[in-house]
Amino acid sequence: MKKGTLLASITAFAVIAVMLISGCVSDENGSTAQFNPGTYSAAAPGNYGDVPVEVTFSKTKIKKIIVGSNSETPGIGGVAMEKLTEEIIEGQTLAVDAITGATNSSRAFLTAVEDCVAQAGGDILMLKNKKIAVVAGEEIKKTADVIIIGGGGAGLAAAVSASGNGSSVILIEKAAALGGNTIRSGGGYNSYDPQRQKAIKMTKPLMEDLESFLAMTPAEAGDFAPTLAVLKDQIREYKKSNDGTLFDSPELHMMQTYIGGKRTSLDGKEITGNVDLVKTFTSNTLPTLHWLESIGLKFSDEVATILGALWPRSHTTVEHVGAGFINTLSRVAAENGVDIMLETKAGELVKDENGRIVGVIAKMTDGTPVTLTAEKGVIMTTGGYGANPEMIAKFNTYWPDIPKTMKTTNTADAMGDGIVMGTEAGADLVGMGFVQLMPSSDPENGALSGGLWGSAETQVFVNKSGKRFVNEYAERDVLASGALSQQDALFYIICDQVTAGNPQPGGKNFWGDDIDTLIATQKVYKADTLAGLEEQLGMPAGALETEIAKYNSFIEQGSDPDFGKRNFGPKLVNGPFYATPRSPSVHHTMGGLRIDTSARVLDADGTPIPGFYAAGEVTGGIHAGNRLGGNAISDIMTFGRIAGNSASSEL
Ligand code: ADP
Repeated sequence: MKKGTLLASITAFAVIAVMLISGCVSDENGSTAQFNPGTYSAAAPGNYGDVPVEVTFSKTKIKKIIVGSNSETPGIGGVAMEKLTEEIIEGQTLAVDAITGATNSSRAFLTAVEDCVAQAGGDILMLKNKKIAVVAGEEIKKTADVIIIGGGGAGLAAAVSASGNGSSVILIEKAAALGGNTIRSGGGYNSYDPQRQKAIKMTKPLMEDLESFLAMTPAEAGDFAPTLAVLKDQIREYKKSNDGTLFDSPELHMMQTYIGGKRTSLDGKEITGNVDLVKTFTSNTLPTLHWLESIGLKFSDEVATILGALWPRSHTTVEHVGAGFINTLSRVAAENGVDIMLETKAGELVKDENGRIVGVIAKMTDGTPVTLTAEKGVIMTTGGYGANPEMIAKFNTYWPDIPKTMKTTNTADAMGDGIVMGTEAGADLVGMGFVQLMPSSDPENGALSGGLWGSAETQVFVNKSGKRFVNEYAERDVLASGALSQQDALFYIICDQVTAGNPQPGGKNFWGDDIDTLIATQKVYKADTLAGLEEQLGMPAGALETEIAKYNSFIEQGSDPDFGKRNFGPKLVNGPFYATPRSPSVHHTMGGLRIDTSARVLDADGTPIPGFYAAGEVTGGIHAGNRLGGNAISDIMTFGRIAGNSASSEL
């Protein structure tokens, strides 16, 4: 439709406007495209509602594309559409591919642009056949002190710390944009933090959790027995002090990471976190948080318990989701002069005759070969293998079955490249059998976002029959396993107006999704009463009402005879009520390259491979069989920073 109709309803056109520099559109046979000049608009459905575009044509050219306000994931869909706009305008073609990691946003954008081309009388087929030859450039050869492979959270933290120490740094990233899985995450950062946690009151259930540590024997704590002893002293001191505010310490975080990760594989082998790595992790989360603040990252004052975190120590940035970390770190990396090479995929590590890792062989998307030499070290931060069903099937020893068709929260780039390159270079692997399924993800696309809920205490899960099936405060593998046993592996998170975080029409949820769009697209169901909600969800009459009344009575009595939940939020009594459909998907891969506390990569003998460092999800040894919610971001930031420091101080 021509400008002035649909566009009247599009308020914030801003994001992209690339002006034409290239020649007219003509196909291989030299025939020139013809358009009816003007500006046309169209929209097509993306992940979260429509993606509107406005395209301006001259008689022979696509001159300008502007993307309108939309709810696609910030930093992912937006970057993809920006890149596609450039490709279309520069090449005067519609023969462009969807951007990996943002396929749905890309498709919506391309469909809407094609609609505009059709409205302008253009020949879509001719434009789709106009292939632009990709020509590989001359080999690029560069040298820096530190080479980093992978531009997610760990890679960027390493880049900022190494460059902050005065080292020259090159960071290569295979995707068209920085961020990896980190930018897609909720950005929960677990750390003890006396300053922020003093606003939280100690509760009876949390006190019972502490008591359970007093009852724990050294034998049960294994390698962590000395930590348990320190924790017991801390808890006894705390009890004596009659302090009404929340207790926390690096030792409590350490013991919970140990217990949360201690699991037995299907073949009867027990796995626990490496005590030295877990200690380094939990004692450095707060210094790393302060380091992040010192480079400009703003954390919210509120601390909550994200799903499966087990304790109220999950911080978020004021930008909320993972984008907060990526935006700040990439800005500082650029200020520090880090050379960031996008669309550059590492394929191989270079080892010298002494067994030292001295470089990386890579290739750019257009085929340009890249050879990088590292004077001090190479840091592997390529993330996990959650988007690689073959690798998951090959290593999984924990879940009876992870169907290859199971959706994933991961970017399509999480293929385990660093694990392959690392093992080829002699690295040992640890904990590869353990994959975390995210219990609570979008059943249609596996995304973490796209719903309404609050802190773990407040969440209520019901199945299609309106029945609860699990202690919603439990670890993620317990929740995922519970969800997988429900009909269609589907459940709903039920909230009232308060536990949903007081959403407002026209407002956004935690993830930045537009609430009205979520409701219109049935990503979220909303009704004034629980009876209305159960009707919308097709549940048996009265089932949800009865279940929530029972749950509210559990809150009153402070115990849950059905599933043993002890940590509760407020009762669900304030309409309107909301239901977000959820299902498990592949989330985090706990295993990976074996490292030491300096982030040096170890071989099978436990000897560091000279010049080789790793951090983030590509490593194993910390989270063991099950990672606590909120432990990933604080791990990747902490060990990314350590890896950057270690590599840059190499002589
Ligand atoms: P982490 O949380 O450990 O930082 P992320 O998933 O956030 O992990 O980031 C890992 C990044 O590494 C992603 O952006 C991914 O595209 C990138 N990556 C993966 N494999 C390669 C590779 N072979 N070469 C360059 N970058 C890679």
